[in-house]
Amino acid sequence: MSKIVIVGGGPAGLMAAERAALRGHNVILLEAKPSVGRKFLMAGVGGLNITHSEDYASFLNRYHGGANTLRRALDTFTPSAYRNWCHSLGIDTFVGSSGRVFPTSMKASPLLRAWLKRLNELGVTICTRHRWTGLDGHTIKVVHEGHNKHYPYEKLILATGGASWSNLGSDGKWTDILAAQSLSLVPFEAANCGFVVNWSPYMASCYGKPLKNVELSWQFNGTQHKRVGELRLDSKGIEGGLVYFASNHIRRTINEKGYCDITLNLLPNLSRTQIEKKLCSKPEKKSLSAHLKSKLKLSPAALTLFNERRHEDVINSLCSLKLRCIATFPLERAISSVGGVGWDLIDDNFQILPDVYAIGEMLDWDAPTGGYLLTACMAMGYYVGNAV
Ligand SMILES: Cc1cc2nc3c(=O)[nH]c(=O)nc-3n(C[C@H](O)[C@H](O)[C@H](O)COP(=O)(O)OP(=O)(O)OC[C@H]3O[C@@H](n4cnc5c(N)ncnc54)[C@H](O)[C@@H]3O)c2cc1C
Repeated sequence: MSKIVIVGGGPAGLMAAERAALRGHNVILLEAKPSVGRKFLMAGVGGLNITHSEDYASFLNRYHGGANTLRRALDTFTPSAYRNWCHSLGIDTFVGSSGRVFPTSMKASPLLRAWLKRLNELGVTICTRHRWTGLDGHTIKVVHEGHNKHYPYEKLILATGGASWSNLGSDGKWTDILAAQSLSLVPFEAANCGFVVNWSPYMASCYGKPLKNVELSWQFNGTQHKRVGELRLDSKGIEGGLVYFASNHIRRTINEKGYCDITLNLLPNLSRTQIEKKLCSKPEKKSLSAHLKSKLKLSPAALTLFNERRHEDVINSLCSLKLRCIATFPLERAISSVGGVGWDLIDDNFQILPDVYAIGEMLDWDAPTGGYLLTACMAMGYYVGNAV
C-alpha cells in the first residue's frame, strides 16, 4: 500500500483518487478551494455534457495534442466505459439529438454527490482549503488557513486544471511551482473561446444575440471545414458552441497570420437560386432607396444601378458573409485553456518528474465542447490512478 497524494479536486483528480483507492492505496486529495469539483458543477449549469456517442474513430479525431499518450488513456476509459461508470453511481444517461451524452437530470450535482460518497467509502481523505505551494524531494508544501504544512508522498498526482474561470480554482498559479523545478511550460491560451471580430461601430450595442442554424466555414491547413450550429453575437465579436468547435483552427490561424477569415451562411437550408427566387417574387421595399434619394440626392438611374448591385450583395451577405477574427476573447472567460505542461515533459505514463504525474486540463491539449473535455480528464485520471 503506497501513500498517494493527489493535488486538485476536479474530475481528473477525483477519478485518479477513485482508481488508486480501489487498488488499496492510501489516498489523500488536497484541494485549494473550500470544496471540490467547482468547475465540474459549473459545467452542469447549462446541462452537463459528459461525453459524446459518435463512433470512436471520429471521437478520437476531435482531440488536438496528446498523441499516443492521451489516446492510450482514452482507450482505457472510452465514452461507453464512462457511461457505465455513471450508471454504477446510480446516474442514468441519455444521448441527445446531437449525439451528446447527458445525465438524465442534466445536472452535475447528483453525480458529484454520489461520487464523493463512493470516495469516502473507499477511504479517500479529502482536505479542502489546502493550497499546494511547493515541491521538496518526496514532500509537498501546502498552505492551509495561513499555516505551512508538509505532505510526504510515494506517488504524487497533479490535477490542478487549466487557467480559465480562475474563481472556480483553476488559476494556473501552479506553473510557478513547476517552473521552479526547471520545467519549461507552454504559455496558456484560450480554447473553446469566442473571437474578437473587426466590427463596425454599428455593433457597439449588440449584446448576446443568438444566431441559430447558421453554417460556419473556415479553412485550416488547406482543408475547407463546415459546420452548422448556433453562435452568439456581441459588441466585441462572436462566441458559442459553433465557434468553440472551430476555435482550435481559428486560434492557430490567428497566431500564424494575425487574423482568421471565416464565412457564415445565414440560410444554409436554401440554395442561392431559391433565395433569388424568393427575393424576386415580392417587390422590394423602397425605404432604403428613398432614404438614399433624399439624403444623397441619387438620380433615378444611379438608384437603379445601386439596387441592381445591392440585390447581388444581399444574396452574398446571406450566403457567404465574411468575418475577420483578429483575437481570442480573454482566457479568463474561455471554457477551457491550452498550454501548461507540454507533452514533451511527460513520459508514456504521464510522469513529469520521478514519482510525479500530471493529468487533466493542466496538460497542453485541446478538444471542442461536446463532452470531449470531461471524457479526456476522466480518462487520464482513470489511467494514472490505475498506473500508480
Ligand atoms: C462554463 C463551463 C462549462 C463547461 N462545460 C463542459 C461540458 O459540458 N462538458 C465538458 O466535457 N467539459 C465542460 N467544461 C470543461 C470541464 O469542466 C473542464 O475541462 C474540467 O473540469 C477540467 O478538469 P480538471 O480536473 O483537469 O481541472 P479542474 O476541474 O479545473 O480542477 C482543478 C482543481 O485543482 C484545484 N487547484 C488548482 N491549483 C491548486 C493548488 N495549487 N493547490 C490545490 N488545489 C489546486 C482547483 O481549485 C480545482 O478544483 C466546462 C467548463 C466551463 C468553465
